[in-house]
Amino acid sequence: MSVTVLSERGAQAASSAWPANADLHSHSSFSDGVLAPAAVVQRAHAQGVDLFALTDHDDVSGLDEAAREAAAVGMRFLAGVEISVSWAGRTVHVVGLGIDPANEALANGLAGVRAGRHERARLIGAALGAAGVPDAFEGAKRFATNPALISRTHFARHIVASGVCANVSAVFGRFLAEGLPGYVAHRWAALEQAVAWIRAAGGTAVLAHPGRYRVTELERDALIGQFTDAGGEAIEVVSGSHTPAQYLEFARVALRHGLAASRGSDFHGPGEGRVDLGGLPPLPRTLSPVWHRWV
Ligand code: AMP
Ligand code: MN
Ligand code: MN
Ligand code: MN
Repeated sequence: MSVTVLSERGAQAASSAWPANADLHSHSSFSDGVLAPAAVVQRAHAQGVDLFALTDHDDVSGLDEAAREAAAVGMRFLAGVEISVSWAGRTVHVVGLGIDPANEALANGLAGVRAGRHERARLIGAALGAAGVPDAFEGAKRFATNPALISRTHFARHIVASGVCANVSAVFGRFLAEGLPGYVAHRWAALEQAVAWIRAAGGTAVLAHPGRYRVTELERDALIGQFTDAGGEAIEVVSGSHTPAQYLEFARVALRHGLAASRGSDFHGPGEGRVDLGGLPPLPRTLSPVWHRWV
């Protein structure tokens, strides 16, 4: 099976068909992004994105503002969300695209997921205190503009600001990744639940950044099998959370499992992450783009 992956710089020149530049994974300050939804939308538009989804963690509160701004600048917009899931003792993320944010099953489900975050953050603060980083819970809260959504990223930004680590990724490497002193295990939504909420809201479920999960090939196939059995339809292939080698790897996985493919930067803020909004290469042409459902 052969797939073609173009260079990052070929992102727009390579595809003449619309959308030329779909970016279907991004975050605003309603979760752990740094920009307000309207500012994320303006930046996506300025970067050449012509089909865009905001996918905040476990929360849809930023979507109205984003949709209004997208209409104002004339950019096609899909309402999205990124749901935190516990699967076989690990955390995986499922993106929902084209959802109705007002759907009751989805709204109730997300409220349940968010409800656990406050106590988890308190426990992370206590764990960090025991590891020699005092007052991290209070510090993280100051960085979380949505009080319902305190994430590890807010802890990381606080710890960088207090001078303990040089950057966010260093904080994850020293304190916050699984197995480290500031890591607190947590029970998120079940995989079947997350997919069911997305489908109840009329959306398409996409397995986010599969290359980030530390699983064996066997476990990965089990995860994807359970995801598709639950009604999941796509996986992210070209992702800001993947290396170029992983674009190829997951292009093959998408073809093998008969899944549609998605493309998204996983943008959290200017200068954070590997790529900016709209900055990824196109999907390999052999794949079926998830956006064929809407365009
Ligand atoms: P949480 O949902 O609170 O567990 O936070 C997860 C978020 O932390 C992810 O969505 C990323 O934005 C961020 N994150 C996870 N691992 C890393 C890492 N190694 N480096 C930088 N950010 C990370
Ligand atoms: Mn995040
Ligand atoms: Mn994620
Ligand atoms: Mn994300």
